[in-house]
Amino acid sequence: MGKGDSIIVAVRVRPFNDRETKRNCKLVIEMPDEETTVIRDPKTNEEKRFTYDHSYWSHDGFSEKKNGYFEPENAHYADQKRVFEDLGRGVLANAWAGYNCSLFAYGQTGSGKSYSIVGFKNNKGIVPIVCEELFKQIADNKKKNMQFEVFVSMMEIYCEKVRDLLTSTPPPKGGLKVREHPKNGFYVENLTTVPVNSFKEIEAKIEEGTKQRTIAATQMNATSSRAHTIVKITFNQKSSKQAGGTSMKKSEINLVDLAGSERQSAAGTEGDRLKEGIVINQSLTTLGRVIKALHDSQKAKGGKKMQIPYRDSVLTCLLKNALGGNSKTIMIAAISPADINFEETLSTLRFADRAKSIKTNAVVNENQTERALRELREENLRLQSQIQGGGATGDASNEEIEKLRRQLAENQKEMEEMEKSWQQKIAEEAAKHAGGASEKAEMEAKKRKMCHLWNLNEDPALTNVIVHFIPVGETVVGNKPTSSGNFIQMSGLSILQQHVVLKNDGNNQVTLNPCSEDLDIFINGKPVHGETQLQQNDRVFFGGNHLYVFNNPTKKGIKTDITYDTAQAEIAQNHAAALGNRGIGGGSKRDLILEEELMSTLPLVQRANAMATELGRNVKFEIVLVSPEMRGLTSGLTEIWIKVHNISEDTYFLWEKSRFMNRYYGMQEMYEAKQDGSDGWNMPKERDPFYEPPDSPVFIASSVVFLQSLAYLIDVEEQFPIVDLSGQEIGLLTVGLSPCSTTGKELRGEYVENPSQLIGKNIAFKVKVISAVGLPRRILKSNCKYRFFGSKKMTTTPTVSGNTPSYGHEETFQFKPVTKEFADYLANSNLYITFWGTQRPRGANSRRNSVSTIGSGGAREGPNRTVRGAVKPRRVEKLVQNAKSAENRNISVKALETVLKGVDDNENRKTRKQSMKKASSTTAIKSRSGSKKPKAK
Ligand code: ADP
Ligand code: MG
Repeated sequence: MGKGDSIIVAVRVRPFNDRETKRNCKLVIEMPDEETTVIRDPKTNEEKRFTYDHSYWSHDGFSEKKNGYFEPENAHYADQKRVFEDLGRGVLANAWAGYNCSLFAYGQTGSGKSYSIVGFKNNKGIVPIVCEELFKQIADNKKKNMQFEVFVSMMEIYCEKVRDLLTSTPPPKGGLKVREHPKNGFYVENLTTVPVNSFKEIEAKIEEGTKQRTIAATQMNATSSRAHTIVKITFNQKSSKQAGGTSMKKSEINLVDLAGSERQSAAGTEGDRLKEGIVINQSLTTLGRVIKALHDSQKAKGGKKMQIPYRDSVLTCLLKNALGGNSKTIMIAAISPADINFEETLSTLRFADRAKSIKTNAVVNENQTERALRELREENLRLQSQIQGGGATGDASNEEIEKLRRQLAENQKEMEEMEKSWQQKIAEEAAKHAGGASEKAEMEAKKRKMCHLWNLNEDPALTNVIVHFIPVGETVVGNKPTSSGNFIQMSGLSILQQHVVLKNDGNNQVTLNPCSEDLDIFINGKPVHGETQLQQNDRVFFGGNHLYVFNNPTKKGIKTDITYDTAQAEIAQNHAAALGNRGIGGGSKRDLILEEELMSTLPLVQRANAMATELGRNVKFEIVLVSPEMRGLTSGLTEIWIKVHNISEDTYFLWEKSRFMNRYYGMQEMYEAKQDGSDGWNMPKERDPFYEPPDSPVFIASSVVFLQSLAYLIDVEEQFPIVDLSGQEIGLLTVGLSPCSTTGKELRGEYVENPSQLIGKNIAFKVKVISAVGLPRRILKSNCKYRFFGSKKMTTTPTVSGNTPSYGHEETFQFKPVTKEFADYLANSNLYITFWGTQRPRGANSRRNSVSTIGSGGAREGPNRTVRGAVKPRRVEKLVQNAKSAENRNISVKALETVLKGVDDNENRKTRKQSMKKASSTTAIKSRSGSKKPKAK
């Protein structure tokens, strides 16, 4: 075929997962025929249609066979076999023909990339079937004059570093180098390449690589979904010609499981000065740009050459051939069927759509071995003389000479490899692993006899990969062996040198004993402190990233359906118990979403705290649940935010989840750089993901302003408590509300008996945010934001310095005419005003502060703090009148009460409860003072 093979693009939709089922998600994908994928916007119902080479429906229409295989019940369902027949067969055929092939899987985490590429259990994916078939076909094609060679390498790209997965020697600082060969293109220097003689061998190698990935992900605290995994298989067919000499066909097969494609929510990183500093995934971003550039240049008429930015990332360098060069390429885009993933799925479908148009240029790689050797020898002579003569121009830099030397070495290696016989290569490899072949069988046998722990990872492909046996006697678990006794190594975050001791009494009774009192060890989600006996299927969280399941194979009842998610949910529930009756878990969809969010965020927050400790950052992170009212909205979902306390500077910040995630990735990178021994891991403040400068505007608190008086055209000027996220009253806000004529004249004494009398009238309302008193001392400047009925935008007051700011803000909102909806809003809703400010780090202005601290409750806003400041006289009569007419009306104080439900560690629980009480008692006092009367629920 040669010139101009388009990339083959297949889209595959998986079944709902447990979360989606639990949430009662709606299906947004349809595949009316074998090429078409239709996605429906769950909000607007609008449909978008795409066509691909294949649209694979793997959502439903299958049943599980006894052996675990998902078998089709109808022709619509695409099983693993069908995907292999369509795509894998082609890969094999091309490999035999001497073409390079690439297959990559794109999609968000959990969408089914690994399922298609490697598969799970008996639902084998493309990689294992291709390998198995390749060796079958080799056996069938054995001929006297033919020699077949198969090599495998496996690597991972994480944070632009390449890690060899087929070696246990620690990776060099900064990872393996990616170099460019003038003829063959980009390659990874010193990557382990293993000759394999059978499917069993290649399978064992891939398992070894997966184990390396798991260990690295656990130790380095890395999120495996951010890494790209590449399995590279080289297939050589050598045939000796009758006339003498040999020719060789060579095919390189790259099988690429890409990192999760999920984007960072744009809103979250907004305003984060670190936005540019942390590259979420340079390789993936660059892949997107490369695909776009290739797509555009293919579209551009007249053969206009465009610059394709391959060199901007490690991944795109290594995939250069796959994307625009000598390769036959297939892309599988894996998608979720659920409405909650609509945005992400649509972006995956668009990505796949762009990839369709890209053409590669595959050629058969065939050469005469003798001629190739001769050419290499000649080139080497040329290189040698260049090196001696100081480069081509005679005055080459050291760097250029170094490059020539490397090329020479590469060529020499290539020649040696060509001259070595296959038998020699296999024998050399076997010598390296004397006796290692039966390792797997041995381990499986051991698992049937001995007590052991097996790992759980958030990535199902990395689950049950690590097994630790617990022999009779004592076994120390820690990050460094000390004595000669039994030892299990768990490295990374929060693991002590001697962490816990496991004791096996010889009758397979195993106890666990933490080595220190303040370790965070959980069994089945509950913290343990003293010696504890392990029971069958116990989920043991050792701290950091180490989550395992205990099994005693001599006893019955081993469960096989324990997952990372369920184990993590137990831990989260334990934390959620801190919420008491107000706790989530009510069973509504909202509660489920929140619970799930909590479950996925909690481990990250714990790890962020552990990283802060290990990297010497005096920062503490804590989860807070923020109601929409707290955020100044009248409706929406409660969200999980992260409260950040910089203890050194005594400043507090609130990060939205996405901002926290962004920072979290930065922390991981910093942590890894330190583990890696890199200099320069210790970032300056401007680039430190743990650091937020005091002048970053931060959400401080909010106030609930009752609007009801306006519904009766009563103007008020009143003080409302300012409540922070912990439910503590930190000050008072004076707000004025005045009904006006549309020309802005305040209406006085024109009360109405019933809010419905306003409907149809042209009226304006003036909102005055006058001043605040008693703000915490650390607040340097502040302003308020609110959204009045019908406004598209938030209204913002001027920013004012000090702890008793006078905002002096007035804004008039016109209603021509008043609608029923608006009259209802006034009668029944509240205005939520949020406070934002910048802070003064501890130490700044210290002399002045130390004076004002006395008598004002100190630097921290404690529950006993009194709020001082001038209170403007109220118009008491009017308020009483207002309250009277409003009696019997259901005024929600719940808004204030639900302002915060804090999730927190145990020590903060008490203060949290007190402040809750205080928050509601504040309301109670207010109502007694006559302005509003909350009705008991
Ligand atoms: P990714 O690699 O994209 O993060 P996975 O391949 O690990 O996603 O898939 C997530 C989960 O969904 C796994 O438990 C996997 O077994 C399951 N899954 C994915 N695709 C399918 C499918 N087509 N049929 C059944 N289960 C699937
Ligand atoms: Mg995966």
